[in-house]
Amino acid sequence: MITLENIDKHFNDLHVLKGTSLAVKEGGVTALIGPSGSGKSTLLRCVNLLEVPQSGRVRIDDAVIAFTPAGKVDRNAVLALRRKTGMVFQNFQLFPHLTAIENVMESLVTVLRRSREEARQRAMDLLEKVGMVEKAEAWPASLSGGQQQRVAIARALAPSPKVLLCDEPTSALDPELATEVVEVLAQLAREGTTMLMATHDLRLAATIASEVVFLDAGEIVEAGSASKVFRTPERNRTKQFISTLT
Ligand code: ATP
Ligand code: MG
Repeated sequence: MITLENIDKHFNDLHVLKGTSLAVKEGGVTALIGPSGSGKSTLLRCVNLLEVPQSGRVRIDDAVIAFTPAGKVDRNAVLALRRKTGMVFQNFQLFPHLTAIENVMESLVTVLRRSREEARQRAMDLLEKVGMVEKAEAWPASLSGGQQQRVAIARALAPSPKVLLCDEPTSALDPELATEVVEVLAQLAREGTTMLMATHDLRLAATIASEVVFLDAGEIVEAGSASKVFRTPERNRTKQFISTLT
């Protein structure tokens, strides 16, 4: 179980997350929707502590960290929690100087200290899962956006994270290339990969999300099962917003 409790995040005078709480069900896909600037990326980044909240509590399974404005953040605790997450970014962010397979192997070798042989085998299995075995030795620059994103998904999954965090995984892609990425994420969802995903892509959310959370100005307006929130939202603000999604 992944929970955020009463998360406050300020960037100087800007109060971005306002006591936000969220629970991600194990084996489910939670889609985080909301207007631009509502704090979706910031919330995702608070799960893996790429952003450190001023207050609140982040829990992934047995790893839990409480933040207080005056408190010091324990770096080892942060690293332990971060290792339970994998992140997929809008712009892929593959290491350009490593081939596709080396990108997937990287954390296994450098962080988890697996042998290169073992790491290569696991990376091949993951590239197979995302349909990228043929391009294992390719450089990122020679791959399409959809192919790069599929390698990025394999890389994020390599250390067997508890939760896959995806920040707008399809929004830098043409519709056709977005489709290949949606298919890979849908397959992962069917296999029970726990995901928290910020997205404007209604097709992606409707295809794979089991739960939907609507965030507006740093506050959760509505949360529930995907069918409930999409089909019969309770709040007018949610209805309005959903009608703007394409
Ligand atoms: P989008 O849909 O456009 O991706 P979002 O919901 O992901 O938006 P965030 O990126 O979380 O929104 O940003 C929330 C607010 O925090 C915005 O006003 C943004 O400008 C601000 N913000 C985000 N990161 C920083 C930062 N590192 N420094 C200062 N302000 C930031
Ligand atoms: Mg964002």
